[in-house]
Amino acid sequence: MTTPWEQLLLAAGLALAIAMVALRLRALAPSGAIVAVLMGTIVVAAGGWWSGIVLVVFFGSSSLVSQINRQSTILQARGSRRDGVQVLANGWGMVAGTLLYSITDWRPWLLFGMGAIAAATADTWSSEIGRTSAAPPRLVTTWQRVPRGSSGAVSARGLLASVAGGTLIAVLAAIGLWQSSSEFSTNVPLIIALVALAGFLGALVDSYLGAVVQEQRFCDVCNGRTEANPHTCGNPTRHVSGMRGFNNDVVNFLCVLTGALIGLFSGIL
Ligand SMILES: [Zn+2]
Repeated sequence: MTTPWEQLLLAAGLALAIAMVALRLRALAPSGAIVAVLMGTIVVAAGGWWSGIVLVVFFGSSSLVSQINRQSTILQARGSRRDGVQVLANGWGMVAGTLLYSITDWRPWLLFGMGAIAAATADTWSSEIGRTSAAPPRLVTTWQRVPRGSSGAVSARGLLASVAGGTLIAVLAAIGLWQSSSEFSTNVPLIIALVALAGFLGALVDSYLGAVVQEQRFCDVCNGRTEANPHTCGNPTRHVSGMRGFNNDVVNFLCVLTGALIGLFSGIL
């Protein structure tokens, strides 16, 4: 058996190794790598190895699906390397859930974390894989056709990808809880169904907020819509629609919160 300090050191070492690979593959920006190392270490220390594995599956699969769009102009404009704020916007729920679990020893907090990461996975898979859809997507609110990559756009392929991503995390979450619960009875099918639902609804909330409140800006130099200010070209952008400051990171935070709350609910049942 390893002591808690040995586990902490081992977790930090493994997280560092994975972050170095992600940095080298340009999946993470330096700030993203630092946040990912801290996140991985805390999650393993507070939630155990299985929580760490689920986090690695999220990071690994998200980076993989992002590679599909490496050549796309949309992604080149937005940048595919995740920075610290982006990593935090997606991973905060898992950190909060495992920390609360380690403090209270109340198992539903673990499912808060699992629901959170299911939503982050479902959202990343749906937006990256959805972009490869041949038909232009539709806006989730008005069902009008919009250009690929628009905030709040959904496609059949994207929705299927979100179900697949959420279900993968749900199955892993259920296995982890089932093998660690000697004194608890774990309703495996119910947990799989509800954590998968947490992922799907989290991604849907992301699309909805993206369509309704997310800030949209315009770069007059490149003559194109963007979410960034300044734009990747270096020029300041102007506000077009949506709530000022309500950017993609805020939307992702709320997507993860939706998944986390449904996960918590599945743990209380
Ligand atoms: Zn520009």
